[in-house]
Amino acid sequence: MREVLVPYIGRFAPSPTGPLHAGSLVAALASWLDARAHGGQWLVRIEDVDTPRCIPGADPLILQQLATCGLVPDAPVMRQSQRGEVYQAALDTLIAKDWAYPCGCSRKDIEDAQAAMGHTRERHQAAVYPGTCRNGLKGEAARAWRLNVQRVIDDLKLAKPLVWHDRLLGKQQQDVAKEVGDFVLRRADGLWAYQLAVVVDDAAQGITHIVRGADLCDNTARQIVLQHALGLPTPHYLHTPLVLGEKGGKLSKQNGAEALDLSDPLLALQTAAQALGLPKADEGAHITQALATWTAAWPPTPR
Ligand SMILES: [Zn+2]
Repeated sequence: MREVLVPYIGRFAPSPTGPLHAGSLVAALASWLDARAHGGQWLVRIEDVDTPRCIPGADPLILQQLATCGLVPDAPVMRQSQRGEVYQAALDTLIAKDWAYPCGCSRKDIEDAQAAMGHTRERHQAAVYPGTCRNGLKGEAARAWRLNVQRVIDDLKLAKPLVWHDRLLGKQQQDVAKEVGDFVLRRADGLWAYQLAVVVDDAAQGITHIVRGADLCDNTARQIVLQHALGLPTPHYLHTPLVLGEKGGKLSKQNGAEALDLSDPLLALQTAAQALGLPKADEGAHITQALATWTAAWPPTPR
């Protein structure tokens, strides 16, 4: 039975580091279908907060690619690069509560501290910040701002580990303080961290349901902690299966996944729909018909 959840506002939030690829179309389609199946709104947010990684022109190209696939946002597009003042206000709120602190560590400082604690860092595993600056800077200049995760959890009496429910993957849990540590809110280079920007923007756009790729599943507990810290609501979450590259690795713009071939938009959408476990739309169907077929078949059953 389909969940009846009203009101519904969903979103697709691409980073303009290149054109859409097969994996990002899956996430876009999933979020669009979920919104339509709930009779809700679907918004697009351009996550261009990491400006050095953004490619000029990718932003309009992505919107054009989405439109070619029949995926058109229901409200004006939000751009993170224009929202620095809002992120600063959120950081100021956290600082005022004594939940954020300046960190003067370089990457090497952090690695040395971890080594001294006997932690060896696995390849590809995010480094857990050892908490060096939690009780004050020792003469170094502040480089980044971090969230004092344990203090937020203690002050707000949040569950440990933090447990949340994914609509597709089921029960999830993470001990954020232990497994992630005091994560960055504002980076040493002055750029806003992804976690802060996402949480602030989801609330600003009134997002009730987040549907995104499973590669972002691991960020959810951190974002829920931040939502609590900022007094913001926690949306419903659904993480879609990842589209794997030929060698079984994650497909992403970073590892050279090619831009989508949209010379036949229906074919591209069929591939994305297949990755979501949806039925094949009729050959020669119009895109709007295909999207209606998949909306009726949404959500896919958990695998
Ligand atoms: Zn530090």
